[in-house]
Amino acid sequence: MATTITAPDAASEKFIGTPKKATTHVNQNEGLIFEKSSPGKKAYRLAELDVPAIDAASLLGNTVRTDLGVMPELSEIEIIRHFTRLSTWNYAIDLGMYPLGSCTMKYNGRVNEAVARLEGIAEAHPYQPESLSQGCLQIMKTLADSLIEITGMDAITLQPAAGAHGEFTGILLVRAYHESKGNARKKILIPDSAHGTNPATAAVCGYQVANLKSNAQGMVDIAELERMVDEDTAALMLTNPSTIGVFESDIHKIADILHAKGALLYMDGANMNALVGKTRPGDFGVDVMHLNLHKTFSTPHGGGGPGSGPVACKKILEPFLPTPVVVTRDNGLLGLEYNRPQTVGRVRMFYGNFGMFVRALAYILANGPDGLRQTTEDAVLNANYIRAKLEDTFELPFKTPTLHEVVFSDKLQAKNGVKTGDMGKRLIDYGFHAYTVSFPMIVSGAMMIEPTESESREELDLLIDALKQIAREAAENPELVQTAPHSTRIQRLDETAAARKPVLRWKAPVAATPVVADSAAKEW
Ligand SMILES: *Cc1c(COP(=O)(O)O)cnc(C)c1O
Repeated sequence: MATTITAPDAASEKFIGTPKKATTHVNQNEGLIFEKSSPGKKAYRLAELDVPAIDAASLLGNTVRTDLGVMPELSEIEIIRHFTRLSTWNYAIDLGMYPLGSCTMKYNGRVNEAVARLEGIAEAHPYQPESLSQGCLQIMKTLADSLIEITGMDAITLQPAAGAHGEFTGILLVRAYHESKGNARKKILIPDSAHGTNPATAAVCGYQVANLKSNAQGMVDIAELERMVDEDTAALMLTNPSTIGVFESDIHKIADILHAKGALLYMDGANMNALVGKTRPGDFGVDVMHLNLHKTFSTPHGGGGPGSGPVACKKILEPFLPTPVVVTRDNGLLGLEYNRPQTVGRVRMFYGNFGMFVRALAYILANGPDGLRQTTEDAVLNANYIRAKLEDTFELPFKTPTLHEVVFSDKLQAKNGVKTGDMGKRLIDYGFHAYTVSFPMIVSGAMMIEPTESESREELDLLIDALKQIAREAAENPELVQTAPHSTRIQRLDETAAARKPVLRWKAPVAATPVVADSAAKEW
């Protein structure tokens, strides 16, 4: 890899002030695993065959793949070192905080992992008979009951695999409900502060998206809502608290306006970390909502791993839930019920991402009601601490009380040509992951910070200190921030090309040409 590496040096002119968290740290050079390959190396040794060898082709005929392409051949330690070295390039929650707003990047307690790995749980098969699956079914039932209690709703499906998938499932329920009354209706209202997945969901489910403007407090404009809701409106998709961390204080009124026209209120519950144990969507008029277990309920998040986006709903939507649903049979045993004539159908194979249910339930039970409430209070306190410490440093576009996240803008720094993206990248040099950059869209140059309850005051102070130093740099040496990060192996990527023309596959070079990652890249 022909990348120039700039050695980070905390004491040099690369910083104005001293970063308290990060120092120069070793991150190792590492090429592609294919470049290390040499023919015949293996990371395993099998025992001698003690049965007659069978020719695979005689069993499977021409379905046997004979050309495996070029596979890397390495020893065990080479493989271990390769991936361990790569891991030194990464940021991780185990190294420090992720201030990413809207993502609720909380720490996942190790105990959740221990429980999910228990043999009887981890190795249960989805086709095991019900009589042998009572424990797993009980986990699903207890989780479902807990989430129903937390949200104040009547019924739930655990099937969806992510937040966006939960939205899709929830809007399918809305659609099925309206259809059962003879008319699916045409449009879904979505505030301009919404997560991009909301309009995408509405469109995928065949609805027109009508954009609802926020008012000066960053909330739903009630008069505008009243004007827009009509008999063609299927639902409003509302995030509460919104993506600027503001609670919709008129939520009851919003629900009433919709219900008066026969429309439903969908709540994007990705921000439940601000509400759990304090207030319940079911009590303030929400008809259907999704939860992100991989945000609020402490299951692993990111890296493309499995997520979980349960959808909770009111009684009127229950008949349409995906099948199967967990039921208690007459003999007292738990079972899976498939016979539900009005169901929207299955949205995920088997029962959803079961391992995530285990982790979420472990988290809920380990905390208990008081612990969950404390978690919410700490998350809100942490966001307000950051707001109080930084509101003189960065512009705060909405002064409405902050819940779980605070959104600043780059307005003051942009006068010197330093943008939110530059400061986000500069934060990497100070040993932090970037905050959420340029979202939500209603704030120009948004800097969105969600600390979560996981962070101690000491860690928050380190972040605050880093951001204050970056603001100073933006004033005194804008170029230093504009060209950040300086401590990483690769400085600035061409983000557009990376998104539009990703190089996802290594191609064997033509013989005698030295292998360089870039040469493979150019073929695409
Ligand atoms: C994260 C998020 C989503 C989408 O959740 P995924 O699990 O990433 O699909 C939707 N809405 C909001 C407000 C979110 O923060």
